Amino acid sequence: MKRIAVYCGASSGNNDIYKQAAVRLADWLVDNNLDLVYGGGGVGLMGILAQEVLDKKGLVYGIMPQELVDRGAAYDGLTDLQVVPNMSIRKQQMLELSDGCIALPGGPGTLEEIIEAFSWARLGDNVNPCVLYNVDGYFNPLKLMFDDMTNKGFLTSDDRNKLFFSDSLDDIYDFMNNYIPPIIRQYSK
Ligand code: AMP
Repeated sequence: MKRIAVYCGASSGNNDIYKQAAVRLADWLVDNNLDLVYGGGGVGLMGILAQEVLDKKGLVYGIMPQELVDRGAAYDGLTDLQVVPNMSIRKQQMLELSDGCIALPGGPGTLEEIIEAFSWARLGDNVNPCVLYNVDGYFNPLKLMFDDMTNKGFLTSDDRNKLFFSDSLDDIYDFMNNYIPPIIRQYSK
């Protein structure tokens, strides 16, 4: 693994544990010689994450749609900022540039990005592992939803096991390093 795409809140949440987790994840990236690929924003957990990686002399690649750049959302001073026409191209580009995706706590944007990456993995359009960094159980309701989906026959157990929830960065590293993409989804009538 060389580069990791991180999805996270453009807000910081109302508890310092989320900011601390963003800093921990940034340190983990640099300690493991992994570059950061992210949305390019300077606010919320996004800004904290990028700032910490840069402070530790890591490399940060931001990818941002023109409309957000025009609104002044970009972090100034990234290793590289790629400006793309829209959000769809940004998400595709983030996957292409990286070898794995991790979601920190965040809002609808974060959720949409990591779930899309997982859905694309099942379609054969994303070979990268998808992980939810489950800081203080933030993603527990989502984990329950995925387990329920599996129990109720909307997701196979094999595919369920391709989406990893953990609050341990060591376990996350092992999962990502040993990941084998799902068998491409087939459809029966
Ligand atoms: P949310 O989780 O709803 O706060 O949205 C965060 C996600 O949406 C990030 O991973 C970004 O890709 C995108 N996003 C939303 N707002 C911004 C922003 N101000 N700057 C950059 N990206 C943003």
